[in-house]
Amino acid sequence: MRSKVENAPKEVKIEETKKEKHMYVKTMNEIDQNMNIKCYCCRSNIELASAACHCSHDIPQCDGGDWSQENVFLCCATCNQDMADALSVEDYMTDLYIKIKNNKKEESHS
Ligand SMILES: [Zn+2]
Repeated sequence: MRSKVENAPKEVKIEETKKEKHMYVKTMNEIDQNMNIKCYCCRSNIELASAACHCSHDIPQCDGGDWSQENVFLCCATCNQDMADALSVEDYMTDLYIKIKNNKKEESHS
């Protein structure tokens, strides 16, 4: 038995955390019995276990964001890619809300 756990690279620990997507499910995600959830931002349906379900960091990892439940939000691939590291989840949702509102306005005018 070797006790090398302390020297284990950090990446391994992150990968392990990453697998436990269900621990990041928030009220907004509305999980059902089939483990389907709604994207935290755009509310589209995604399978929790699928690759389309992304773990989005509110504070990006490059800015020191961690894998805590407060910092990780479950989003669809589109939202996660759209917000990238530039926007926080809150900012992205505001953006999204304004976009949807503007689209609706345009529709009602035409
Ligand atoms: Zn989305």
